[in-house]
Amino acid sequence: MEKTTLNYLWIKGEKVSTTETIDVVNPATGEVIDQVPNGGKKETKLAINAAYEALKPWKKLTPEKRESYLVKWADNLLENRDELAAILTEEQGKPLSESRGEIEGCATFIRWYAEEGKRVYGEVITGSKENQRISVIKQPVGVCGLITPWNFPGAMVARKTAPALAAGCTVVVKPASETPRIAIAIFEQLMKTGIPAGVANLVTGKASVIGETLFEDRRVKKISFTGSTEIGKQLMKRAADQVKRISLELGGNAPAIVFPDADLDLAAKAIVDNKFENCGQMCNGINVIYAHGEIKEKLTEKIVNLAKELKVGLGSDPGTDPIQIGPLVNEAALKNVEHLLQDAKEKGAKVETGGERTGDATGYFFQPTVLSIVTLDMKLTQEEIFGPVAPILSFQKEQEVVEFTENSPYGLAAYFFTRDVNRVYRMAEELDSGMIGVNGTSLSVPQAPFGGIKESGIGREGGFYGLEEFLELKYISLSLENDEGGY
Ligand code: NAP
Repeated sequence: MEKTTLNYLWIKGEKVSTTETIDVVNPATGEVIDQVPNGGKKETKLAINAAYEALKPWKKLTPEKRESYLVKWADNLLENRDELAAILTEEQGKPLSESRGEIEGCATFIRWYAEEGKRVYGEVITGSKENQRISVIKQPVGVCGLITPWNFPGAMVARKTAPALAAGCTVVVKPASETPRIAIAIFEQLMKTGIPAGVANLVTGKASVIGETLFEDRRVKKISFTGSTEIGKQLMKRAADQVKRISLELGGNAPAIVFPDADLDLAAKAIVDNKFENCGQMCNGINVIYAHGEIKEKLTEKIVNLAKELKVGLGSDPGTDPIQIGPLVNEAALKNVEHLLQDAKEKGAKVETGGERTGDATGYFFQPTVLSIVTLDMKLTQEEIFGPVAPILSFQKEQEVVEFTENSPYGLAAYFFTRDVNRVYRMAEELDSGMIGVNGTSLSVPQAPFGGIKESGIGREGGFYGLEEFLELKYISLSLENDEGGY
């Protein structure tokens, strides 16, 4: 396939280059695959200027007109799905099948918000005086800065940009430096729709400079950030200066809890599918598996057998037997996994399978790993592992796992497996988490509010709640004149 060069920013509908560039590396080979612009203050200002100029006409368009651009965008993504998936895999590492699914997911989200933009309703409230009429309207927030991570580098751009544009906002997107090319390519498909220049802009480059430029500019009314809790906290503090609106989708520490009455085959399969998706680099990915003492051995055996079947390799491998696990995103991610594993082993964890780097020394591959005899003093039960390591703990009482979620600073997702309807309600209501999966681990759908509580973030992506993140409320009080000209 012909190599796609994606070395430009998108500002005011135009491709813009810079003299300084950033290398983009293929995590499967360690090779530099492209250089993207190292945009800074100047480029970010130009992007904000463009978004600000485009705002008034864009928000005045009918929702149907805005919808038409979004629908074309989704169509373009689907028409170019395979080419886009190849770009995604080349810089992020995930298997092509997952990348294709991610591009399809982008289109699904965009279409959903294209529709939902037509359902922004207001409210009429009874007045406090006979002649008072109160109405509440919802209006676009304004220019928004959207900052996205590398783990779902296509999906995150679509999930933020689509609701923002549907709500009538204009945007400046800053994608992660590990995975800027897929964001540039997804924007290319948006530009092809003929969307008015300046409505959507994209700047790659130094995060701190681009971030600071977005925060200091009063015309940028909102920041939506997905990434680590550490950076999210810094940005939340920074937003305080102008009381800028901010949404944060941050890290998690999701437990998967398996009760003795669960369908163990279903639980093991769902756990392995979730845990090892995207090489374990998923914010709502399972971090620890809590197996009830009565079924711990059986469940461990099933999980180990499934993990052993997983094929690790080049995400871009078109072979007939598709791989399920690509490399980690970079050397630092690999070292973090090794560090957490070493700590667990020193504290008594048993490696049931995996536990080593694998593949070519230049790629960042790690074996799918399952650990048993895991205890809560091990770092990997308290921190995001963000790698293909599944630690299994044992528990006896529901309250032990409820307390685990209560004591964790995170609260993104929790999963449990049971057939007892009483327990379903009890646990779903008690687990301290923004999202709960019961007898399944799939949570990311456009119509539901994805997001966390506590240090996992504020705000939601998905559903009408996701659109609300880009809307302001305005309350209008009207005093009516009576037929004699008085009030
Ligand atoms: P990250 O290091 O926090 O980076 C995320 C984004 O923020 C990148 O675009 C990064 O740019 C940018 N950034 C870094 N420092 C910044 C600053 N000072 N000002 C403005 N922007 C800044 O996170 P990551 O390692 O890419 O992503 C992994 C994390 O994201 C995990 O913790 C994961 O759980 C979380 N995540 C959460 C969700 C959710 O929905 N809750 C979804 C996906 C991922 P550079 O790349 O240029 O540094």
